[in-house]
Amino acid sequence: MVNKHWFDQGLDGVANFLLSGCLSEHSPCIVSLLDVVVNTNRPFRFFNMWASHTNFNDLVATNWNLYVRGTKQFMLCKKLKHLKRPLKELNYKHFLHISSRATKVNENLERAQLHLHDDPTNVDLWNFVATIRKQTMSLSESERCFYYQQAKCKHLNQSDRDTKFFHDLVKRNKKRNQVVVVCKEDVLPTTSIDEVAKEFITFYECLLGTSDSCEPIDPDIINAGDDFCAAIEKFFVNGSFLKQINHTVIALVPKGQHTQSVGDYRPIVCCNVFYKVITKIMAQGTVIDRITNICRIFLWGERKALVAWKNICLPKSEGGLGFRDIKSWNLALLAKVLWNIHEKWDSLWIRWVDQVYLNGTSVWDWSPAKGDSPLLKRIFEIRDLIVSKEGTTQKAINNPTQWFFDKKSGSSKTYDYFRLRGNPQIWATDVWRHYIPPKHSFILWLGVKGRLQTKDRLHYLDIDTNCAFCGTPIETLDHLFFQCNILRDGSELQEI
Ligand SMILES: [Zn+2]
Repeated sequence: MVNKHWFDQGLDGVANFLLSGCLSEHSPCIVSLLDVVVNTNRPFRFFNMWASHTNFNDLVATNWNLYVRGTKQFMLCKKLKHLKRPLKELNYKHFLHISSRATKVNENLERAQLHLHDDPTNVDLWNFVATIRKQTMSLSESERCFYYQQAKCKHLNQSDRDTKFFHDLVKRNKKRNQVVVVCKEDVLPTTSIDEVAKEFITFYECLLGTSDSCEPIDPDIINAGDDFCAAIEKFFVNGSFLKQINHTVIALVPKGQHTQSVGDYRPIVCCNVFYKVITKIMAQGTVIDRITNICRIFLWGERKALVAWKNICLPKSEGGLGFRDIKSWNLALLAKVLWNIHEKWDSLWIRWVDQVYLNGTSVWDWSPAKGDSPLLKRIFEIRDLIVSKEGTTQKAINNPTQWFFDKKSGSSKTYDYFRLRGNPQIWATDVWRHYIPPKHSFILWLGVKGRLQTKDRLHYLDIDTNCAFCGTPIETLDHLFFQCNILRDGSELQEI
């Protein structure tokens, strides 16, 4: 509505057309001119151009070394928060007013090149031009990176960097980034910035939010490792999610040209990377297979596994090693999400699913559409799995009530529901006595399962199968543990 010069003076101008109604074919129009643009606090935003700075990696590394007491997720949040200030300082020192910086250094380069033109044999000048040229290139790359991120225009290429059109586009986007008029619930439009903000907050508070106190942080003190992975891993162990991570920025996108009331804006939830990684892992089977494989290698190394993984994942009392079967654990976590949706549990995401996807339908009757998120689809696969396991939907609904009744042990009870079952083994308590060194228990466990690599089981290797101690033709498990005279004497000696 107004031109660039108007904007450049720091002035604003917005026209908002309302609907014409039934009596007239003219639309009323609200024009706001000369409004002072108030700069409110913007959320912290990471600019990709920072990463190109030579100090960037060191800066992150030194500031990451912060002592934080608390859970892995809490540590991650704290450390990320701690990074904001040094990054802002980096921005202030090296990237503020990136365009004028880039222009200035470009002018310097031109001047230096001119000097060199008049004095082509001067080596110092050569070197000077080379340095300044490098500087110019890096700054203009940063500038491009900055505007690329600001304009969110993917098709713009490098050559568009300095055009007036491009800069105006960014400026316009910035101006558009503000809702100037909104119809209040009593249908009266308002242009007051405070009232517009209040209107949105009330609307979303009613739709999504209620205040809730933070979960207390359990004190476990661990030195820093790969903090991000550790926090993710921890989530898959205890299934809890820190409020700080659940917090998201909601971007409002107008649904059409004529946006009048708060409801005319489509909210987009901008989830953080932590959130995204977790949902990806929960939704993807291949990741689970990879995690299982890592665990398998951890236990057996490069050797051939002596006991099948599914048996290892049984509890010790059922003849396993008590490892968690990640597939079942994943099912349990997803089932928990399903249950939270069923219970309309108080979280932003659940309310979101409830409003946008279910839209009044019960979670047990709903079926996902083709384009819905993979996580949602997966959750509804789990739902069908539970229903088929239980026989009827009603039985399925009744059963989980018991799993989740106790919030603390909820996930492990659910895990118990999905995991593979084995028969109780009477020998288990004897093998896993607390005073037996774990390594010995492990060998004993292999022995009881008949999986120790005794010579009789290695016959395919074409080796001497005689007992190495007494020379009896075949070394079997029973021989080594119970029959071999020499070994039996030895153990008797030790007992005395
Ligand atoms: Zn022997």
